[in-house]
Amino acid sequence: MKALTLTEYKSLVFGDVPDPRIADDEVLVRVRACGICGSDVHGMDGSTGRRRPPIIMGHEAAGVIADVGKQVKDWKKGDRVTFDSTVFCGACWYCKRGLINLCDHRRVLGVSCDDYRQHGAFAEYVALPQRILYALPDSVTFEQAAMVEPVSIAVHAVEITPVSLGDTAVVVGAGMVGLLVVQALRVAGCGKIIAVDLEPEKLELAQKLGADVGLKADECDVVQEVRSHTHGRGADVALEVVGLSTSINTAIASLRKGGSLTVVGNLSPKVEIPLQVLVTRQLTLAGSCANSGEVPACLDLLGRGAITTEALVSATPPLAEGAAWFNRLYAREPGLLKVILHC
Ligand SMILES: [Zn+2]
Ligand SMILES: [Zn+2]
Repeated sequence: MKALTLTEYKSLVFGDVPDPRIADDEVLVRVRACGICGSDVHGMDGSTGRRRPPIIMGHEAAGVIADVGKQVKDWKKGDRVTFDSTVFCGACWYCKRGLINLCDHRRVLGVSCDDYRQHGAFAEYVALPQRILYALPDSVTFEQAAMVEPVSIAVHAVEITPVSLGDTAVVVGAGMVGLLVVQALRVAGCGKIIAVDLEPEKLELAQKLGADVGLKADECDVVQEVRSHTHGRGADVALEVVGLSTSINTAIASLRKGGSLTVVGNLSPKVEIPLQVLVTRQLTLAGSCANSGEVPACLDLLGRGAITTEALVSATPPLAEGAAWFNRLYAREPGLLKVILHC
């Protein structure tokens, strides 16, 4: 089959590789669309240690079942599917409690690290355990389904945030996931949604997609502005989608007493936080990882247009042109958001 393989750091090659073989409990999916994730772009130079060549990356994908293993009963050839980016084991303490994102034996598709190498979906075919599949509703296209993983990250983060109807929410970071968080907060019944970023184009997009206010962090006093929108109190909840010391501290300072911060971004391995503020203002701080069973709900939201991804997709070129698009993303070409490769 054809695949886009990271053959050495910073070098992607489109060409022939052996077809994947399926085990008895696996299905073979003919991939139709696969999104390029920021983690693939950052990972291709070796800096994260999680894309060790040779590896076929790609974990945001959808396609059609081409073959099924002997033990597979619930899926058949021709089914339109998407799948979790995580291969969870289904048997550990966490999996049995439905916390599949915290699985002890979690493998991410298209990742190779110290512990494992799991080829992903920048290819014609990918072999997957049946338990990670989700059926695609007719109303959802392959391109939309290739966005379900980032959507699920946003929806999961909102899901674990204690949002009440009419709450004011601050979203720090209006990149891909931040823009999806804005939409998920709207669905969750937030009142005022305030987006914070450094780039005016992203703030504009955030406002188109449901934010009421866009604050350019280097041009205003974010905390003061948030207070002016909340009777001087501060926001009920904040979601941080960057993962730097400054942005986390902005999010914390924007909260009212008793407010909750959910952290999705994790660019820095460590940040400093104001401990006494956290304690004396009784704030709640939570981390949010991947998704935990929200994919069907996300597909429904996409199908109904409650969350839209069209404005976030910059291009849908063929897999054969993937290397060039990776390079453009790696060079941080301005205005380039999600690129989805047709496989
Ligand atoms: Zn991803
Ligand atoms: Zn498990």
